[in-house]
Amino acid sequence: MGLDEDALEYHRTDPPGKIEMETTKPTNTQRDLSLAYSPGVAAPCREISDDAGDAYTYTAKGNLVGVVSNGSAVLGLGDIGAQASKPVMEGKGVLFKRFADIDVFDVEYDFADPDKFVEAVAGMEPTFGGINLEDIKAPECFEIEERLRERMSIPVFHDDQHGTAIITGAALLNATHILEKDIEDLSITFAGAGAAATATARFYVSLGVPREQITMADEHGIITTERDDLDEFVEPFANPPGESGDLADAMAGADVFVGLSVGGIVSQEMVQSMAENPVVFAMANPDPEIDYASAKAARDDTVIVATGRSDYPNQVNNVLGFPFIFRGALDARATEINEEMKVAAAEAIARLARTDVPDAVRKAYDDEPLQFGPDYIIPKPLDSRVLFEVATAVARAAMDSGAARRDLDLSAYRERLEA
Ligand code: NAP
Ligand code: MG
Repeated sequence: MGLDEDALEYHRTDPPGKIEMETTKPTNTQRDLSLAYSPGVAAPCREISDDAGDAYTYTAKGNLVGVVSNGSAVLGLGDIGAQASKPVMEGKGVLFKRFADIDVFDVEYDFADPDKFVEAVAGMEPTFGGINLEDIKAPECFEIEERLRERMSIPVFHDDQHGTAIITGAALLNATHILEKDIEDLSITFAGAGAAATATARFYVSLGVPREQITMADEHGIITTERDDLDEFVEPFANPPGESGDLADAMAGADVFVGLSVGGIVSQEMVQSMAENPVVFAMANPDPEIDYASAKAARDDTVIVATGRSDYPNQVNNVLGFPFIFRGALDARATEINEEMKVAAAEAIARLARTDVPDAVRKAYDDEPLQFGPDYIIPKPLDSRVLFEVATAVARAAMDSGAARRDLDLSAYRERLEA
């Protein structure tokens, strides 16, 4: 495999890994050093001791995110453990830096026990402006995030859940726009009932989809309330007793299919059984539930297809979300990333896709047309406008919802990000 060998070479080229630390203040003279460290450093310590909020003024806290994992659900690799997950967490740091100039310490904890993990992460609050939980397996990930959100007064965001929810939420808003369907009328079938699927279903409810119009199927078929293995995250989407069946039954007549399960489980016949002008978000990685071309070819009417793959239109890629959501949250010194902020992010992403794309962006993508329509429902990650559109929207929502600890002049803020 050429890609594997290239990736190993990329990572091992000296210095090993792909990140390092840099200083941001002069360190050339004895005087500089006595400001950076003892004895000068005592002055900012005293300020922060008097007012903890001064940590944002005198330390890097406000631009520092902890990417924290226990390595229990890493990419498609599964439970490979904390140490083996480090390349992924360092990679997440690279994306935060590249897309939103946010610094990251990646922290891999060798704690499978949720109690231990929660305790350890909660104690990290003095260091960080926000916590991005990463690649923690379901169902523990739900409990871990919920407990940390309760305990910490900085944003705690499990990207595998909410990142996907927000990007596909933007895609859903634009798909309904193009197909002239009302979000309240959509009947939606999910394949998968794990971390990504349940968070996405919850978010779709926040966007206006009635909960009872959502059906969820896992490996054992349609989930109904008769099942005795349901946790509090799946249970709200369980169908009434008797409404059981397999995934094919669940897809018949549905307006939208959302696949967050495993590759290759959806046939063209299943797409043919869906309602008029259906939406197919087939996001299992690396192979989608049905590939882009087969889903498109299954029908003569308009089918809007999105996958997780970069080699087809409409790639659902979390990098469109987390760097900018954290940018806005950090800059507003938000205490959390709440539902209002997530909805604002999805709406901003959706809005941006409906505007004209600058030539520079089109060039970065081999002059693809990138015009709002079935094959362009979400912006491209290398579109630099995503930063100021999404970060500003998230900061505004933080202020409006009471999560912000700082009032930003939003137009000045936006201009600063644009520069
Ligand atoms: P997860 O928590 O392990 O959930 C996987 C779910 O898929 C489980 O509910 C599992 O059900 C279900 N499943 C397995 N086989 C199935 C089948 N044959 N039919 C229907 N459902 C089946 O994993 P996750 O983090 O939510 O991720 C799920 C998938 O989405 C992965 O492929 C991941 O790569 C992809 N994903 C893509 C993006 C993106 O494109 N941006 C983002 C996030 C996730 P059981 O519990 O019954 O086995
Ligand atoms: Mg992940």
